[in-house]
Amino acid sequence: MENKRDYYEVLGVSKTATPDEIKKAYRKLAIKYHPDKNPGDKAAEDKFKEAAEAYEVLSNPEKREKYDQFGHAMGPQGFGGGGGFYSSGGMSMEDIFSQFGDIFGGHFDFGGGFGGATGGRSSRRARKPQRRGSDIRIKVKLTLEEISKGVTKKLKLPIWVKDDACNGTGAKDGTAFNTCPTCHGTGEIRQVVNGIFGPQESIGICPQCEGSGKVISEPCHHCNGEGIIRRDEIVEFNIPAGVEEGMTLTVKGKGNAPRHGGVNGDLLVVIEEVKHPELIRDGNDVIYNLMLDIPTATLGGPVEIPTISGRARINIPAGTQPGKVLRMRGKGLPSTQGYGTGDELVNIMVYIPENLNDAERQAIESLKDMPDVKPAPGTSHRLFSKLKHIFSKD
Ligand SMILES: [Zn+2]
Ligand SMILES: [Zn+2]
Repeated sequence: MENKRDYYEVLGVSKTATPDEIKKAYRKLAIKYHPDKNPGDKAAEDKFKEAAEAYEVLSNPEKREKYDQFGHAMGPQGFGGGGGFYSSGGMSMEDIFSQFGDIFGGHFDFGGGFGGATGGRSSRRARKPQRRGSDIRIKVKLTLEEISKGVTKKLKLPIWVKDDACNGTGAKDGTAFNTCPTCHGTGEIRQVVNGIFGPQESIGICPQCEGSGKVISEPCHHCNGEGIIRRDEIVEFNIPAGVEEGMTLTVKGKGNAPRHGGVNGDLLVVIEEVKHPELIRDGNDVIYNLMLDIPTATLGGPVEIPTISGRARINIPAGTQPGKVLRMRGKGLPSTQGYGTGDELVNIMVYIPENLNDAERQAIESLKDMPDVKPAPGTSHRLFSKLKHIFSKD
């Protein structure tokens, strides 16, 4: 800090230099020491930054007055604004380039181009948040069949879209603009505010033109100057296989267009699962409760059951106990992350008849004294350990 050169000396101007002289002097130095003209030259870069810092202070009447009074003793914060000074790690190249809008009238090009920093103005503009349209949130009902395969949905939605009549500008024919009277076309508002270290310059986006530098002189009649119109649009999007109730999918850029140009919002698709009449979803598996009659459970035989992909026939082994779970591998749902496919679990239940006619009652009664119809000792214990096996899911 103590070794800092005098700002007037840096720019090579007298203490009584006019703003115009200061500007001209800085312009010369900025071109001479510009990093693109001196690639890899650390000394040039330092000179470039030093000149930018000097200009930052001397081009601002209040900062200049303070500097004249106190010199560098004031400390870097004394001059505020622009993110401080390079010696304290403050003034960035971007800050420096942002000065060029004033210095070079928005045009600063060596012919060979500027590399990453194409002129001050564009780097300043890049900081401006881009206008973005609002998101649209919709619910989409999906059947298990659709979820199992994934599905492309085509929906008609009322949506804000860019008005082609004015190319989204809101100005008649897209051309009826005047220079913004608030910022005089710069898109920026510079204000001196009193910070804790004294006056500081703040640069903000012009609220009237939102940084464009232009205001509409005659609004587009088609969209009433909004640049967007609301209409029904067919929106198409893919839903991957395996999604679940409550999941939200983001379809980028398929939301509303913003007023006066910018990027579209997103379409947020909230998944709703339509209950399957017979199958119960459990993660990537599906469960079917199969009620067998006593003869089928006892003797075995083919049974038709529902699956996600339609009806299927399975063979029930003879002596199938209630509580047994038959696993049909790969008949469940795919995982959204691609970790394979779940199973269909067929949960066996056996129907015990409630109302019998006389002949049926006789038939059951005739079984009563047959030894093989009775459970063997220890059967309940065996069944219990089997059930435990099922609950721990293999
Ligand atoms: Zn403006
Ligand atoms: Zn319009």
